[in-house]
Amino acid sequence: MNSHTYDYLDGNAAAGELSEIFAMDVTIAEAQCAHCGAIMRFAEAHLYMQAPGVVARCAVCEHVLLRFVKARQRAFLDLRGMTCLILDTSQLQESG
Ligand SMILES: [Zn+2]
Repeated sequence: MNSHTYDYLDGNAAAGELSEIFAMDVTIAEAQCAHCGAIMRFAEAHLYMQAPGVVARCAVCEHVLLRFVKARQRAFLDLRGMTCLILDTSQLQESG
């Protein structure tokens, strides 16, 4: 009953790609899965990089959390698999 035959990395592997879009490190943020409601660190997500982009799946239910594809001069970011992305802003106050 294994529906996913590809190997995956953990969400930390998305840090480089996503740093082009987000000023903050998303991999240390918490994400709530829109499918099962689990809240976990994005770094714990299962990251599939065999596709023409990056696909992050929930570590609990394997539903898609995030898709990120770069094509030509555009980046496509699909976050509909997440109900919420919770970022820790405490680090930002240092530089203020
Ligand atoms: Zn889930």
